[in-house]
Amino acid sequence: SEACDGNNGTDVVVQVDSPNVQYSKEYIESTVDYPVNYAIDQDNTIVIKPTITKIKIRTKRTVPKTGLMMVGLGGNNGTTLTAGIFANKYGCSWETKLGVKYPNWFGSITQSSTIRIGMDASGKDVYVPLKSLVPMINPNDIEIDGWDISSMDLGQAMKRAKVLDIDLQNKLMKFMSGIKPRPSIYIPDFIAANQLDRADNIIKTESKSEALDQIRTDIKDFKKSKNLDQVIVLWTANTERFSEEIKGLNDTSDNLLKSICKNESEISPSTLFAVASILEGCTYINGSPSNTFVKGVVELAEKMGVHIAGDDFKSGQTKLKSVIVDFLVTAGIKPVSIVSYNHLGNNDGYNLSAPQQFRSKEISKSNVVDDMVQSNSILYKPNEKPDHCVVIKYVPYVGDSKRAMDEYTSEIFLNGLNTLAIHNTCEDSLLASPLILDLLILADVFTRIEIGSDSMDYTPLHPVFSVLSYLLKAPVVPKGAPIVNSLFRQRACIENILRACLGLPAENNMLLEYMLP
Ligand code: NAD
Repeated sequence: SEACDGNNGTDVVVQVDSPNVQYSKEYIESTVDYPVNYAIDQDNTIVIKPTITKIKIRTKRTVPKTGLMMVGLGGNNGTTLTAGIFANKYGCSWETKLGVKYPNWFGSITQSSTIRIGMDASGKDVYVPLKSLVPMINPNDIEIDGWDISSMDLGQAMKRAKVLDIDLQNKLMKFMSGIKPRPSIYIPDFIAANQLDRADNIIKTESKSEALDQIRTDIKDFKKSKNLDQVIVLWTANTERFSEEIKGLNDTSDNLLKSICKNESEISPSTLFAVASILEGCTYINGSPSNTFVKGVVELAEKMGVHIAGDDFKSGQTKLKSVIVDFLVTAGIKPVSIVSYNHLGNNDGYNLSAPQQFRSKEISKSNVVDDMVQSNSILYKPNEKPDHCVVIKYVPYVGDSKRAMDEYTSEIFLNGLNTLAIHNTCEDSLLASPLILDLLILADVFTRIEIGSDSMDYTPLHPVFSVLSYLLKAPVVPKGAPIVNSLFRQRACIENILRACLGLPAENNMLLEYMLP
């Protein structure tokens, strides 16, 4: 049989027939029961008080014409995503030694995953594409723009990335070479010294406030020239060293804005991009592990009511980790040692070969098992954690084809040991690019969703988008909110909110109808 190319099937439309949902021209409005169980520890007895609140959700139906501005547009992810959009949009096919290939969006949950929505009359599960639940941006309609410190046009930059099959590169060259990244903010202190050679496309000013203004002008210019309803800005440029969070410098939005005017050295390029984006009312997403979102940035986003999401795409090793550790801990097995080696030979790896930039990545990769470990007090004492070590090495020959080797050692029944060794080889940018697409599409959806109740007016989701945690290694969440790393829970969060937008309850997986005689 022929392999599925991922583009089969016609677009499905989902419509819910229930008094809980109204479809008007402008909105899908739903009412759902939102249950919360309060569980209070009273002298070693956990007393549970279930509550149910009726909430209303409304989703704007009009999909805005959207532009994506990537910082690091000329890098491996920037060029691979742009190429993927063109390949899909223009229906390019290309020859490989294995035959003719067609574009798809494998690896994107919005484009290539389905969710169970119910059962048919015969009791068979019915699955629909995730993208069919509420109106979402079509990838073919996205306008692309952005910045890079390297001036190469996207055609040459795609060649430099060495990610795509050569015939596909040739077919896309005419589309790609028409895009040239805008000059960017380059402060050598923040990325590895080895990036200097490509830095030939730099905003010519020493002043941080002038640079900020230039980025704002670029956003306005793109929005106007393409007649866009909204622009989303996403950092897929190199990982920066951590910037220090200092009282009086970047701890409040006012202090941060003042520090930019004073040209303070600890304000990083990525923080300037985030500030410019927020001031322009554009959602900002951080795909790197850098600590762009210092307190002053978060406060600015909250004040302006603009959404931000980060940090660091969760593409390969960490994604698997947030599945494996969840599986082990929920199976009652105790992971005691997790050791992760990576080697890669792309420019990201080159940048990460510098100690301060590696440190940012190490931190982002290190906390990903915390919530799962803390969930099981039978296996772990308070503050006890498995040993967890992350190593990254730069090996030019393997290029974008990253190798990740993980060893999980766990204690099993009666002190036995179980060791899992996993070897993962994968084109890094082919994993990350569909995540960028999902981040953009879901960020747009979740800015169109508002929640209310009988006692509360419709309110947008909190500016810090914890709902996108599935796609991010070190999710940034609103102050006081729990950080969820488990991939299953993160996926359920997205699925169930989308179900609730249609007045449908969360999936409970009970299947009781098949358990009765
Ligand atoms: P890359 O090095 O190929 O691309 C980064 C681009 O950013 C380069 O073209 C570089 O010239 C540019 N750049 C650097 N500083 C800049 C600045 N101040 N302004 C504008 N452009 C700048 O790297 P990549 O493989 O595309 O990865 C991009 C980012 O995504 C990295 O931070 C990486 O850690 C992160 N990331 C990637 C993956 C993955 O699987 N590919 C996963 C998680 C996170």
